[in-house]
Amino acid sequence: MRIVLLGAPGAGKGTQCKRIVDRYSLQHLSSGDILREQRAAGTELGKKAQSYMDSGGLVPDEIIVEMMIEAIKKTPEAGFILDGFPRTVNQAIELDKLLNDSEQDIDVIINLLVDSRIIEERMTGRRSCPKCGAVYHVKNLKPKITGVCDKDGTKLIQRPDDKPEVVANRLKTYHVQTESLVDYYKNRRTVYDFDANKSADEVSGLIFEKLDALVEA
Ligand code: ADP
Ligand code: AMP
Repeated sequence: MRIVLLGAPGAGKGTQCKRIVDRYSLQHLSSGDILREQRAAGTELGKKAQSYMDSGGLVPDEIIVEMMIEAIKKTPEAGFILDGFPRTVNQAIELDKLLNDSEQDIDVIINLLVDSRIIEERMTGRRSCPKCGAVYHVKNLKPKITGVCDKDGTKLIQRPDDKPEVVANRLKTYHVQTESLVDYYKNRRTVYDFDANKSADEVSGLIFEKLDALVEA
């Protein structure tokens, strides 16, 4: 199964992806996670991406497309779920080309819909584990011990781009550069919309119901 997960930053894509990959044994490919890993490792790619990420803008398409194509090519047959990529129509066109060339297609497109008031609260309240990438929220999805990762005991951090001044810019970037992607896909394929204002458990329940039905069909 090859899935694309769409939604504004903070909509809950990463949270839902982790649950989906556990249930359907897929590879989780998050462009944001890959970029953060590259930055932490101090690679050329990480250095190139840094200023765009810190200001809340998008990393240029040519950098991202090459990075994600490489990641997709390494993915096992069982399939993948893309999180944060594509983020522009141009990236979606490049993804379509790659899949066409290997006679593959996207099987499911999931779109998480969240009110903007909730999105801001989710992004500014997000806390992440710098070691394993686990994601929590100060109010909604708390770790067992405040500020500490449940999985490996590492001290949680707030991503620099989750600070309020950058969050505003990221939402602007989303509206200007990414939102139109939903129409691009809706004009070509079925897009399944989900009300992601609900709790994380309710949202995954709805997504699993749809994916189970599609797997059975
Ligand atoms: P994205 O990957 O779309 O940027 P995340 O999955 O990182 O979003 O979620 C953003 C924040 O919101 C995190 O702090 C996460 O714990 C929290 N969160 C995710 N889904 C929900 C939900 N359905 N209800 C409440 N909080 C959520
Ligand atoms: P995310 O973890 O998905 O919120 O992404 C964090 C940041 O990485 C974004 O604000 C962008 O600067 C950059 N980024 C991630 N994915 C992409 C993409 N597909 N295209 C361009 N920039 C991206």
